[in-house]
Amino acid sequence: MALEIRPGPVLADRTTLRLGGRALAEIAFDRPEEAEGLAEALAGLGGRPLLLGGGSNILAGDGELPLVVVSPRVKGEPVILRQRPAADRIRVRVGAGVKLQRLVAWLATQGLSGLGGLVGVPGTVGGAVAGNAGSYGDSLGAVLARVRVWSPETGLAWIGREGFSTAYRRFALPGVAGFFVVLEAELDMAVREPIELRQEMVRHLSDKKASQPITAATAGCVFKNPPGASAWRLLAEAGFRGKRLGGVGFSEKHANFLVNYGGGTGREALALVRAAREAVRGQSGLELELEVRVAP
Ligand SMILES: Cc1cc2nc3c(=O)[nH]c(=O)nc-3n(C[C@H](O)[C@H](O)[C@H](O)COP(=O)(O)OP(=O)(O)OC[C@H]3O[C@@H](n4cnc5c(N)ncnc54)[C@H](O)[C@@H]3O)c2cc1C
Repeated sequence: MALEIRPGPVLADRTTLRLGGRALAEIAFDRPEEAEGLAEALAGLGGRPLLLGGGSNILAGDGELPLVVVSPRVKGEPVILRQRPAADRIRVRVGAGVKLQRLVAWLATQGLSGLGGLVGVPGTVGGAVAGNAGSYGDSLGAVLARVRVWSPETGLAWIGREGFSTAYRRFALPGVAGFFVVLEAELDMAVREPIELRQEMVRHLSDKKASQPITAATAGCVFKNPPGASAWRLLAEAGFRGKRLGGVGFSEKHANFLVNYGGGTGREALALVRAAREAVRGQSGLELELEVRVAP
C-alpha cells in the first residue's frame, strides 16, 4: 500500500467543533512504514502539515487553508506484549489510529488500570499521545513507555521515555523542531480488579455527563488550567459562562467548553477566545494558555 492522497478535505467535516475551511490535500496511510514517504509527498504538495486524529481538540480557521492534512490511520488493535516491565505491570501496544475509547474499554475488560479516568474522551490514541490527554489524575504521559514516530529529524523510530518529555497537556520530542507523527504506542499498565475499575469509570463518566456538554459540537476545554487555578472558574468570573458571538459561545454547563451552536465560524470562535483571554487577564492578572490547537 502507498500513501493515499486526496484533494481538499473540509475541516468542518473532520473536527468535533464543526469549524474549518478547506485544506489543500489529505495524505492518509495505514501502515507505520508508509510514513517514510511523507517527506517527499509533503514537499510535492506544499503547505504545512496538520496531523489529524479524531479532530476533537482542533479549532480550525475558515476559508482556504494552506495545510495538508496528514491522517495516520494505523489501526493495530491493542495487544498485550510478552515482555513485562515489572512484576506488577503489563505492557500493551496499540496503533495511533485506534479510537481512544476502544483502548480504554479494552483495558477495562483486561483489568488494566491507568487510563480509566479518560473514559468518554473522544479522539484517537495518536491524538491523545500528542496532546498528553488526561482526566481524573490519569494521563497518557504517565503510562507511555515507548512511542513509534516518524519525523524529518528522527525518521521512523521507536523512542523510549528517555527520548521524550511530557507535561500537562504537552508531549515533546527534544530535537524535533517541526512536526512529528505518532504511529504506535506502548503503555505500561497496572493490574487491577476489573469490577473496581469499571465502577470507577462509570462514576467518572456520569460526573462528566453532569458537568460537560459532551453531546454538543465542542473541542473539549479551550484553555489549560493555570497553576493553582481553574480556567472555567476564571472564565465564569469574567462573565464568559454562556457568552455567545454569532453561532459560537462558551457553554452554560462548563464555561471552558466552546460550543458551535450551528452556523458558527472560525473567525467568531477566535474572536471570542481572544476576548475571553483579555477579560481574564484584566480581571485576575492571569494569562490563559490555549489547550485547543488552532489551525493553521
Ligand atoms: C467532549 C470532549 C471532552 C474532552 N475531554 C477531554 C479530557 O478530559 N482530557 C483531555 O485531555 N482532552 C479532552 N478533550 C480533547 C480531546 O478529545 C483530546 O485532546 C484528544 O486526545 C484529542 O485526540 P484527537 O485524535 O481527536 O486529536 P486531534 O484533535 O485530531 O489533534 C489534536 C492535536 O494532536 C495532533 N495529532 C493528532 N494525531 C496525531 C498523531 N498521530 N501524531 C502526531 N500528532 C497528532 C494534532 O495535530 C493536534 O495538534 C475532550 C474533547 C471533547 C470534544
